[in-house]
Amino acid sequence: SEQNFDVVVIGSGGAGFSAAITAKNAGANVVIIEKMPTVGGNSLITGGQMNVPGNWVQKKMGIEDDIELFVKDTLKGGDYLGDPEMVQLLAEQALPAAEWLRDYIKVDFYKDQLFQFGGHSVKRALIPRNHTGAEWISKFMAKTDELQIPIHTRTTATALIKDQNGRVIGVEAEKNGQKIIYNAERGVIMATGGFGANVAMRTKYVPELDNRYGTTNARGIMGDGIVMAEKLNAKTHNMESIQTYPICHIDTGVISLIADSRFFGAIVVNKEGHRFVEELERRDVISRAILAQTEQQAYVLWGGEIEDIAGVVSVHKDEFGELNRKGMMYKADSIEELASKFGIDEKALMAQVGRVNQFAKAGDDKEFNHRGGLKTIMKPPFYMLVAKPSVHHTMGGLMTDTHTRVLDTQGKVIAGLFAAGEVTGMTHGSNRLGGNAITDITVFGRIAGKEAAAQ
Ligand code: ADP
Repeated sequence: SEQNFDVVVIGSGGAGFSAAITAKNAGANVVIIEKMPTVGGNSLITGGQMNVPGNWVQKKMGIEDDIELFVKDTLKGGDYLGDPEMVQLLAEQALPAAEWLRDYIKVDFYKDQLFQFGGHSVKRALIPRNHTGAEWISKFMAKTDELQIPIHTRTTATALIKDQNGRVIGVEAEKNGQKIIYNAERGVIMATGGFGANVAMRTKYVPELDNRYGTTNARGIMGDGIVMAEKLNAKTHNMESIQTYPICHIDTGVISLIADSRFFGAIVVNKEGHRFVEELERRDVISRAILAQTEQQAYVLWGGEIEDIAGVVSVHKDEFGELNRKGMMYKADSIEELASKFGIDEKALMAQVGRVNQFAKAGDDKEFNHRGGLKTIMKPPFYMLVAKPSVHHTMGGLMTDTHTRVLDTQGKVIAGLFAAGEVTGMTHGSNRLGGNAITDITVFGRIAGKEAAAQ
């Protein structure tokens, strides 16, 4: 069958929704196609924090920040491999994008709390309600309903269609084994996410990232958009920059949001009861260190002092329930009890916690020079979970310009083709900083929607 639209958006993550809604508001007839039965992609399962320099919560909390500092942090955090012009645009458009999310999409951000992820000079990440991407995917859904934007799920884009001048004029897709042609009068927006769940594709670029690593990614995140665009001679960039996340579910690979206690001083130990890495090291460094330990696993430990501030167990109740049922996380009145649950060397662990408590009180971590400052682990209840690293984010992807137009290997624009989100490879350089993905997909999704509608 054949269907006609002005703009066809491939993928229903944050980038796809931002693009589709913006295109519709610019007067285009839009469709979203999504290969999975449900919408949201990786955007649904993220913690959902969004870095925005100069945001309203910072103003309320008296935190000084500006566009230049955000640009500096982001470029440095990616080892200066991000594109400075695109990062500048990201920084400049972050606040208008966040205001759009808050005021138009009705995303509920906490009014007096911010996250400070590694690599950021100040607290600048807005936190959506319940600390998950579900907050904004559900609001995006409500808005697409209101605007009557159709979402065709279980529909996999398989190829881009071009005319004799090389302009992209549509998408070939498949639903239940049937071929569907989507004609796109004005443009196609690629918003298919990265390739973290595709083991063959990631080991092609980084052989180390084989099956020993799970992935935090949704199942559909297989790099389809990159492959489809490459068939039209699109240029990829920075493909070997693939980020692992150190603390994840040992069976499913899902990210452990409950272990965000780590940002508040939780320690990471091995089976022998010893710390082995600074807990706020880069994600890749901690990941490798964990794989070098017994059983290639690590244990995250914290107590009441940290939970009182971080509140992670109360915020992520479902995660606790699930991990607890599976014997992967426990709450106990003593650290000894936790050690015995996990078969960790109890004596060594007690001695280790003793040293941590001394270092915390002295404000000087003599073992690993913890950059955030250690906290004491003395007040019950105590919490411990087992974790291992997973492939998290692919920084590389399609090359785009400031209009989100996809570029070919000659650096020329591929007419009719736009891209936004994790499928692109422009902003994060070698290493994406926490909280920058949401900013990236919203900012560039909005630009893509506007540009495609204006064709
Ligand atoms: P971003 O963060 O860039 O928005 P996400 O991972 O959140 O990316 O979303 C990407 C979405 O695209 C996922 O829901 C995924 O299932 C979908 N997708 C990936 N490949 C295809 C494809 N070939 N056809 C349709 N949808 C796709």
